[in-house]
Amino acid sequence: MLNKFQIPLSASDLTDLERNAMLEVFDSRILSLGPKTVEFEDNFARFVGTKHAVAVNSGTSALHLIVRALGIGRADEVITTPFSFVASSNCILFEGATPVFADIEPNTLNIDPDEVEKKITPRTKAILAVDVFGHPAEWDRLRHIADKHNLLLIEDSCEALGAKFKGQNAGTFANAGCFAFYPNKQITCAEGGMITTNDDNIANLCRSMRNQGRAQNGGWLSHERLGYNYRLSELHSAIGNAQLKRIDEILEKRAKVAANYEDLLKDCPEISLPQKGSNAQISWFVYVVKLESVKTPEDRKKVMDFMAECGIQTNIYFAPIHLQPFYQKEFGCKPGDFPVTERIAAKTLAIPFFANLTTAQAQTVTQSLKQAIALL
Ligand SMILES: *Cc1c(COP(=O)(O)O)cnc(C)c1O
Repeated sequence: MLNKFQIPLSASDLTDLERNAMLEVFDSRILSLGPKTVEFEDNFARFVGTKHAVAVNSGTSALHLIVRALGIGRADEVITTPFSFVASSNCILFEGATPVFADIEPNTLNIDPDEVEKKITPRTKAILAVDVFGHPAEWDRLRHIADKHNLLLIEDSCEALGAKFKGQNAGTFANAGCFAFYPNKQITCAEGGMITTNDDNIANLCRSMRNQGRAQNGGWLSHERLGYNYRLSELHSAIGNAQLKRIDEILEKRAKVAANYEDLLKDCPEISLPQKGSNAQISWFVYVVKLESVKTPEDRKKVMDFMAECGIQTNIYFAPIHLQPFYQKEFGCKPGDFPVTERIAAKTLAIPFFANLTTAQAQTVTQSLKQAIALL
């Protein structure tokens, strides 16, 4: 899609390494079910530190297969956050289970373990926590709650590749974790996802289900279970693998952009900057500030329109899941259900953020943001 903005909200960081890796696959004519996916999985498992990594065609597919592999179904409730991208809740609906939202903690914007405990019922089967904006959730408290109540844990780390909690990598805390490689994520392969787990059974089930329910060594037309086509192509895998080779450089660049923004915005009382929990190492996914002087949706729209006039793309991250039209209609969710999420979501603004955002661009963005706020 053509972007009319001089400074877009996000941009991928692609080089000749990715280009050549992709062309190599093109020339090999092995376009699916080949060595590049295996290589990407092996390198990914090593980077994250899990026994298995299973590549799929999106983060949403990864979430779906995890929910299915854990046997979550119609009778079950899964406790999750309303402050996330819609896929982290939809994957529960795919299997006919019920998402039960628990409100967030206002500083880290992650699911609040105290709220999680309040939502547990005899039907609760799992907790699905999201490492929102690359900030890891409170994994030791969530693990404690899960163990105490005999619940499964799912980690949606789609925004958190490279993040750590108490020195341990995101994607390793639950029964299974997952990542996504859409172009705005830390690394991209155009479209793609990955499941990470130490559990042989979950890994085997996911490998089978992504490939039409085939057995690992079974025939092409032998299907052992219900499956899907969630395979990642060799072209996509090659791009992802090349990106992963550059992960340290990419994460460093992103951290530097975040540090620049912090520097440029720290003296502005109307703007609250992202906060970090004491045990967390953030892997920067987006740069989301809170506009404290915004009182109405119209105020925020004015800020966004002003910045758009300056050629700067922004967005509201996130619109709460429970207030999505579909959730309000189907499940009777309504404004007021999750006050912390709603209070924060009304003030957030994501400003342009990507590895190659220059200091000059960061200055342009912050200057425009300050001007827009001054006009309110
Ligand atoms: C990006 C994202 C997903 C889904 O990934 P896709 O590859 O777009 O399907 C899921 N959960 C969260 C929190 C995400 O940010």
